[in-house]
Amino acid sequence: MNKDKIWLSSPHMGGNEQKFVNAAFEANWVAPLGPNVNGFEEDIKKYLFKNSSNEGSVAALSSGTAALHLALIMLGVKPGDEVLCQSMTFAASANPIAYLGATPVFIDSEEKTLNLCPNHLKRAIEDRISKGKKPKAIIAVHLYGMPYQVDEINKIASEFEIPVVEDAAEALGSTYKGKNCGTFAEYAILSFNGNKIITTSGGGALVSKTQSAKEKAVFLATQARDAAPHYQHSEIGYNYRLSNISAGIGRGQMEVIDDRVNARRQMHNFYVDLFSEIEGVKVYSAPSDDYFSNHWLSVISLDENETGGINREDLRLHLEKLNIESRPLWKPMHLQPVFKNAPFYGNGVAEKLFENGLCLPSGSNLTQEEKSRIKTGILSCFKK
Ligand SMILES: *Cc1c(COP(=O)(O)O)cnc(C)c1O
Repeated sequence: MNKDKIWLSSPHMGGNEQKFVNAAFEANWVAPLGPNVNGFEEDIKKYLFKNSSNEGSVAALSSGTAALHLALIMLGVKPGDEVLCQSMTFAASANPIAYLGATPVFIDSEEKTLNLCPNHLKRAIEDRISKGKKPKAIIAVHLYGMPYQVDEINKIASEFEIPVVEDAAEALGSTYKGKNCGTFAEYAILSFNGNKIITTSGGGALVSKTQSAKEKAVFLATQARDAAPHYQHSEIGYNYRLSNISAGIGRGQMEVIDDRVNARRQMHNFYVDLFSEIEGVKVYSAPSDDYFSNHWLSVISLDENETGGINREDLRLHLEKLNIESRPLWKPMHLQPVFKNAPFYGNGVAEKLFENGLCLPSGSNLTQEEKSRIKTGILSCFKK
């Protein structure tokens, strides 16, 4: 990777990853199973459920997308079904709906957490039911690490008896009312892609409530092999298990997860301080003490009426010239060409966030020197 470029979010090794990877080589566990896979699953489980009275189970998989795909399969999503999904998110939240031949129904965000708006969610459910189809699942996302309105969403989900799939890909280490994101729904997914708060270079996990759900997920993720000495299949399977090498990286990363969360939160505070001097820029922060974000990415929005005409693109291009990466928020799914025929319930919140919002460099490995380059770069954009 280019050393001079300041990235939005880059991998940050803790030091012991290599040790676990070497152990895999020494034991010849160079396969999509082995002690690192089991150990990584235990590490995640202990971490997620440490503040919880229940104990879930974790299946390590090849990606967060694979985890979402399996979650929807386990919930029985079939061709022609409808699945509700937060519109403002990465395409990976919605693509698995299409893999199954189901239709995504997109829902707008609210402005407090940038996540699923309970009002539009409820309206969408009632309308889809009145049109003759009850949605099969709700995909809710903790975007950029900020928990969605967990109690409100759960209340609606249980009122209509629709299971929630919690997309916690960006939210490992975030909590809501003291409990970890990834523990609030029937199924939750995590991602360990290279840009996430911890990484296995590529990987993910499915968190479920019971050991038997985990076993079913692992069965599906390893080509659905029935118990028989020959290879026998009575269901369609997938090749979605995490490799023992990648899981070794994950074990090293889980040793430093708390440090990573602290460092990202410090980056968020850095931006809160920096923009307190600048008119017209909002730094998105927790709406109350119930919400604890890992601040995977720090997010701002610009109001060009108050910034003296400087908009999101002006700032982005200004930083790009200084070799500092920044990026607009996720383009809402209902605005994506590939989903243009999908129904949408909302009133412009996600559109506005996409228009005015920007993600800033948020890595846990940014040096003092890089932080001062960011600070000087941002200030120079607004001093014109
Ligand atoms: C990264 C991400 C995913 C998918 O994870 P992969 O491991 O890259 O497949 C899903 N949802 C959201 C919101 C993400 O940011």
